[in-house]
Amino acid sequence: MTPLRPGATIGILGGGQLGRMLACAGAQLGFDMLIYSPEENSPAGRVAAGTWCAAWDNGEALAEFAEACDVVTLEFENVPVLTIDTVEAAGTPVRPGSASLKISQDRYTEKTFLNEQGITTAPFEPVDGPGDITAALATLGGKGVLKTRREGYDGKGQAWIRSAEEAETAWDRIGGAPAILEAAIAFQCEISVIVARGPDGDTRTWAPPRNLHKDGILAVSSVPSGLPKAIEDEARAKAMKLAEALDHVGVLALEFFVLQDGMLLANEFAPRVHNSGHWTPEASQTGQFEQHIRAVAGWPLGDTHRLHDAEMINLIGEAGLVSPASLGPHDTLTLYGKREARPGRKMGHITRRLGPRKD
Ligand code: ATP
Ligand code: MG
Repeated sequence: MTPLRPGATIGILGGGQLGRMLACAGAQLGFDMLIYSPEENSPAGRVAAGTWCAAWDNGEALAEFAEACDVVTLEFENVPVLTIDTVEAAGTPVRPGSASLKISQDRYTEKTFLNEQGITTAPFEPVDGPGDITAALATLGGKGVLKTRREGYDGKGQAWIRSAEEAETAWDRIGGAPAILEAAIAFQCEISVIVARGPDGDTRTWAPPRNLHKDGILAVSSVPSGLPKAIEDEARAKAMKLAEALDHVGVLALEFFVLQDGMLLANEFAPRVHNSGHWTPEASQTGQFEQHIRAVAGWPLGDTHRLHDAEMINLIGEAGLVSPASLGPHDTLTLYGKREARPGRKMGHITRRLGPRKD
């Protein structure tokens, strides 16, 4: 493809914090960034050159938005596939395309696809109704996590089953929707790989961060992961393989459970920039947001070499009302401009540089 010229217009579907950080990175490269979001006053809209506030199925607004953009990308994996198709029908390319979204929007399709690529996941069984739970539990060793197939994030739409009583209530706890039951994994840690792929197939990965979750929500990502290089390399190779299999353009994240013996089980992927990559702008040569914009613009990808040891700490709920006085000299604060702190809501993050890279 012909690279976009500086001054061209890039549209983002979705108005959350990921869109906000993408819009800032795009503006730095000289692009005009436009946001399309059903939410009024969105975090991304407040830093962009223009915003469209309309529903995902508003064909007229989408056509207008497409017309205003040279290329469109997304910050939210649950943008309806029909929305992507509408923008493309108006003649504007969407990167990544709908293939990456279609697969990642349904946990059953997603895990099946990963396994087909030789990227092993935890064992899982489809659960289409409460009556399927007993048999699925028996197959998976008596314990597991029931997860809705669609629209789960930050641990929402999930219910643990460790007892007969929990099995009884699990279907109601996830809101009674088509689901999968996944075997409970006793992992030593969790890591993720952020990978970027350009339209020419050039693919780069960053060092995998070790991710600590609290109540199903990412709390801290740290680099280096402390794992042997061979495990990190295997995870990076798997993420590259996935990006290629999807013909993905842009950034993508693949999450893993690391077992005691070092075996990797893929958990899920997100076809977009990712919370566990928020340390990359401050601690590596090229950050994930700039890289994503480079990829969708058809520009050469930047080097992903890690320069610092670092820790990214999510500010969730009230913690987002951070006092600037608490910031250390090597901390970078990013706030998402959300007007109201609610429990479990991601308000911002701090990247703490812990010194030059040692390995
Ligand atoms: P996010 O959007 O934050 O990535 P999500 O709602 O899509 O989360 P998952 O990534 O599937 O959900 O699960 C969130 C976390 O719950 C995982 O990172 C892990 O810590 C824990 N978890 C999920 N599935 C399992 C499992 N099968 N065994 C053990 N722990 C699990
Ligand atoms: Mg996850």
